[in-house]
Amino acid sequence: MMKIIQLKKDLLSEIDLLKTAGKKIGFIPTMGALHAGHIALVSQSVTQNDITIVSIFVNPTQFNNKTDLDKYPRSLEKDAELLRQAGCNLIFAPKADEIYNEDELDGCFTFDFAGLDKVMEGKFRPGHFNGVVQIVSKLFKLVQPDKAYFGEKDFQQLAIIHHMVKILGFEVEIIDCPIVREESGLAMSSRNERLTLDQRKKAVEISKVLFESRNFAAQLSPLELTKWVIDKINEVPELEVEYYEIVNSSTLQTINAWTEPAVGCIAVFCGEVRLIDNVRY
Ligand code: AMP
Repeated sequence: MMKIIQLKKDLLSEIDLLKTAGKKIGFIPTMGALHAGHIALVSQSVTQNDITIVSIFVNPTQFNNKTDLDKYPRSLEKDAELLRQAGCNLIFAPKADEIYNEDELDGCFTFDFAGLDKVMEGKFRPGHFNGVVQIVSKLFKLVQPDKAYFGEKDFQQLAIIHHMVKILGFEVEIIDCPIVREESGLAMSSRNERLTLDQRKKAVEISKVLFESRNFAAQLSPLELTKWVIDKINEVPELEVEYYEIVNSSTLQTINAWTEPAVGCIAVFCGEVRLIDNVRY
């Protein structure tokens, strides 16, 4: 039987029991509106742990855009059904006031990211990663997982989570999981639900161009290729690139030559919906 818990105290007594029984806990933090990308993380946890816990919490402190927060899709019942089928044992779905005091909501939480937060998402979404570390560190303290699963779709977030675990000394193994895509190539995202059918077709061009760009990596420098990708995507009506950067996959700093492990990270507006994706070179 899968349990759904809303209160911290109920979660903590459940975790106490599991720890006493020596159960290994796998944990997947999410914001709900679940799709096959999330479920892939859950399935991996189910095979690698005794107990799988998923949190569903649309974290207000990581949104720097009120409309994006208000319009973020929410579907707890459907999510619960998908998770039950995937073999999840416990959902933690707290209300915001269960997680935050009034004074924690004002963006006062700061963390030393060693520069990882200065580029890409961090540049365009000020405070976003402080909110991410604020919530993930709170959830790690509550759930005390042995393993936690994160998707490479949010490439910069994953780098920051690895850094956070090192700095804050959490005893948790972070498992990096590959991007799950629709058949068309479009990276699965809860935000895709906000696209019209026509916009969805246009959004497919994002992954198409990223994949195509790999063929030119031998002829063009990282800087030239960056420009090629941006121009090509901007040619599609309704698509507007916010940033595309080819960076070192560990340091996330822009690279000038192909001698380093490279990943290209992109954020694109499709109409009003902001989509992200990335590709390794
Ligand atoms: P979110 O609910 O968007 O905060 O995502 C929760 C977790 O699922 C994060 O670790 C994401 O990176 C991961 N995730 C979301 N979409 C995908 C995807 N298409 N492929 C793999 N992981 C994903």
